[in-house]
Amino acid sequence: MRLLCSCGQTMILSFRMVIFEDVYQIDLVPILECENCASFELVPSIKQDVTKLLAELKQEHREGRVVFTHVNELAAVLYDIYESGQGEVELSSFEAVVIEKCEERINLLLDLYGYAKKTGDCDWMEEISFRLSGLSSFVKTRQFLET
Ligand SMILES: [Zn+2]
Repeated sequence: MRLLCSCGQTMILSFRMVIFEDVYQIDLVPILECENCASFELVPSIKQDVTKLLAELKQEHREGRVVFTHVNELAAVLYDIYESGQGEVELSSFEAVVIEKCEERINLLLDLYGYAKKTGDCDWMEEISFRLSGLSSFVKTRQFLET
């Protein structure tokens, strides 16, 4: 995915550990990184989720490392795309890839949900609905670069 940085160079999708107040570490956060000046910013559509997670960590005094792709479904989808090398494509096709992968993931989660329901596992059903809710709101708005 390519966007322009304020220095005029292109930005690419990448992942990094973000540390807040020296104690809260969130690893594998999707960012847009400039290939030229090393500046980076959080992927806009996940900014709110990072802020929310940080607030939760603070409230629970959970210091140390949390892997963002384990707690955020959209980040997990982005990481899959990044690892498969599809993060290098133009922005317009990148967004289409993200939507497609999210839809695939939603279908998979819906299948899992059906299975969890059959086995009567309420905790599992709840976990799956939570994972689904993160993706469906994104797919509905389709605004990867908006907050
Ligand atoms: Zn730059």
